[in-house]
Amino acid sequence: MSDRRLSPETVEQLRRTFGSIEENVPLARYSAARIGGPADVLLSASSAERLAMIAEALWEAKVAFRILGGGSNVLIADAGIRGVVVLNQARGVRFWESPDGPRLRAESGVGLGSVARRAVEKGWSGLEWAATVPGTLGGAVVGNAGAHGGDIAGNLELAEILQRRKGAESWSPERLEFAYRESWLKRHPGEAVVLAATLQLTLSTVEAAKAKMQEFIEQRRTTQPPGASMGSMFKNPPGDYAGRLIEACDLKGFRIGGAQISEVHANFFINHGDATAADVKALIDVAQKRVAQQFDVALELEVELLGDWQILHTESAQLTNGGAL
Ligand SMILES: Cc1cc2nc3c(=O)[nH]c(=O)nc-3n(C[C@H](O)[C@H](O)[C@H](O)COP(=O)(O)OP(=O)(O)OC[C@H]3O[C@@H](n4cnc5c(N)ncnc54)[C@H](O)[C@@H]3O)c2cc1C
Repeated sequence: MSDRRLSPETVEQLRRTFGSIEENVPLARYSAARIGGPADVLLSASSAERLAMIAEALWEAKVAFRILGGGSNVLIADAGIRGVVVLNQARGVRFWESPDGPRLRAESGVGLGSVARRAVEKGWSGLEWAATVPGTLGGAVVGNAGAHGGDIAGNLELAEILQRRKGAESWSPERLEFAYRESWLKRHPGEAVVLAATLQLTLSTVEAAKAKMQEFIEQRRTTQPPGASMGSMFKNPPGDYAGRLIEACDLKGFRIGGAQISEVHANFFINHGDATAADVKALIDVAQKRVAQQFDVALELEVELLGDWQILHTESAQLTNGGAL
């Protein structure tokens, strides 16, 4: 994304292309952590066709944009996001039984948890792991979301991907190059748009699928902290857990401004209501530095830093618990 504000001429051009547009829209309310400054312009897409139309028009006009799903895997800068943010609200879903088993095709703005629960209600198995994972199907494809031993790579039959000047194409899981919380899309941010995806499931019974889902919900309730967060901040390093390493550095409960490393699970960073992105970024830096010093392990972010990070509101990132680093 560009770090330059959209010019008045570009905003006027967008208004002519899309009709009414929203300008200077605070993004905190669209992020799971409830953090983030304004987007220069916010557009909403209520169908996959509209999402494709918006993306094509913005590429054509050479205006930088990012898709925002549930905002549950991003830390949006306090200075916000320059250019256009496209809020994905394309939520059409179709279920059918193919000779190879149950299938569903969902537009990428559908909530992953909601589509998983609908599959369970049909007695279809395979997506129980996803019932409590926040965010959209599109975001889940980008980050290969997963939990309880399952992940999107294990369910995906194909994804409908739109790229500049290439139109929409069906991508196989192989082409998406899935890895742990990774995909081709995550490694090429902003270069392609997930329009929809077809997932494969298996026939089960409503009782069995519900029981499995309930077990996962219960596990999550007892291990993950409440409060606004971005989920796991760091990927687990090979053979270890980011949460264990951060905890071993005595950082559980460590607080900067309104942001705190959870007392319950050290890989979750909680917004106590008034946290800034700078507060969270300062916590990230502390955790990475301490884990590197103590264990010689470089923690890699799972969460993506989005937007204009050149202006850091450092005055709000005061250490509040006197922690000498
Ligand atoms: C409490 C909590 C618990 C969580 N637990 C888990 C868990 O168990 N497992 C797990 O894997 N994750 C977990 N997460 C992280 C998050 O839920 C997933 O990463 C989720 O899949 C992100 O989807 P999203 O729609 O919110 O994506 P966003 O945060 O909106 O976007 C993430 C990235 O994907 C891009 N993107 C989004 N949609 C599209 C699209 N249609 N086309 C192109 N690019 C797109 C965005 O531009 C951005 O780069 C958790 C998060 C929270 C807050």
